[in-house]
Parts: sequence; C-alpha cells; structure tokens
Amino acid sequence: MCRHVRYDTGEICAEPARHCDHIVPASEGGSDDPSNLRVPCDWHVLRKDAADADRARQRTAASRWKPARTCRPHLREVR
Ligand SMILES: [Zn+2]
Repeated sequence: MCRHVRYDTGEICAEPARHCDHIVPASEGGSDDPSNLRVPCDWHVLRKDAADADRARQRTAASRWKPARTCRPHLREVR
C-alpha cells in the first residue's frame, strides 16, 4: 500500500500501491536499490512526477541561460 502521508489528515495514505517509484530520480543519480524505491498510489505518483518535472525544467532553464550579446555594448563599438 501507499506509505505517503496525506496532506489533509496527516495519516498514512494506505491507498492500493500501483507504481514503483524512485525516491531520488534515476535522472538525478538515484539507484535501483530497494532503499531508493517506494510504491505510491495513483494520486501520489502524479504529485511526485509533477515535482520531478518542475525540477527538471528549472535545471534546463538554468543551464540554457547565457548573457545576451547586447549586454556587452563595447563589442558593438569595435565594428
Ligand atoms: Zn497515496
């Protein structure tokens, strides 16, 4: 069963577990060791996937950010 804590009651969720989920995602170096796995219900796995996707978007946005060339006006004056 799902072992996540419910936000509304503060109790263990206990819905039927339908997924095998990495606590630390494989994309972030998480292993397949049982200590890094848990079995959330449908609702909790969706919450986790959304949080993982948000983090991945933030990492991608940060790595793509580069200063615009127009921030260096001295280079334009040389031409
Ligand atoms: Zn749950």
